[in-house]
Amino acid sequence: MPPVWQTNNVKIVRWITGCGGPIYGEIMALRTILEFPDPRLRTRARPVTEFNAALGKLIEDLLETMYAAPGIGLAATQIDVHQRVIVIDVSDARTEPLALINPEILAREGEESTEEGCLSVPGVYDDVKRAARIRVRSQDPGGATLERDYDGLLAVCIQHEMDHLEGKLFVDYLSDLKRERIRKKLEKERKERSGRAAVGAAGAHRAL
Ligand SMILES: [Zn+2]
Repeated sequence: MPPVWQTNNVKIVRWITGCGGPIYGEIMALRTILEFPDPRLRTRARPVTEFNAALGKLIEDLLETMYAAPGIGLAATQIDVHQRVIVIDVSDARTEPLALINPEILAREGEESTEEGCLSVPGVYDDVKRAARIRVRSQDPGGATLERDYDGLLAVCIQHEMDHLEGKLFVDYLSDLKRERIRKKLEKERKERSGRAAVGAAGAHRAL
């Protein structure tokens, strides 16, 4: 299986406007994705109790941020919102968004190893073993409860995103040595990136 999880070569484009409103309204809904080892990624999310307009807005922001990244899944935890909400779209055409609220795994079956990546751990891919099939109870954005079976990439993605809600990252499944190496690599890249952003911000409209 190719590393379809997500690519890391496109960063969120943040438009900076000199005066007035945003240049592109829809882009303003993009949220910053926290990156490992940010301690906020270790927060355990709270259940959603109100199925209101604010929840709808959160789901929209999550989807826009996920599509723009681009990724195939995003948990609220990753944008520093600690509610049990995940969004996923594993379709090739990117036209099948799925939002799971308060997801719970009721049953697991089989085991499969898949190469995973994560928008919060950019540029890192490694094999993780997870259940091949899962039965999940969740709520939809309107609060209705549904129970469904998932397999394949969708099952992997749901388990990965649900880990985020527990403050867990896919690199936690790797060895301590590997995780430490990843942490150092990302720190170095972040330093290089912030140096570039400082230079670019003066003259350009956007920071990559
Ligand atoms: Zn992730």
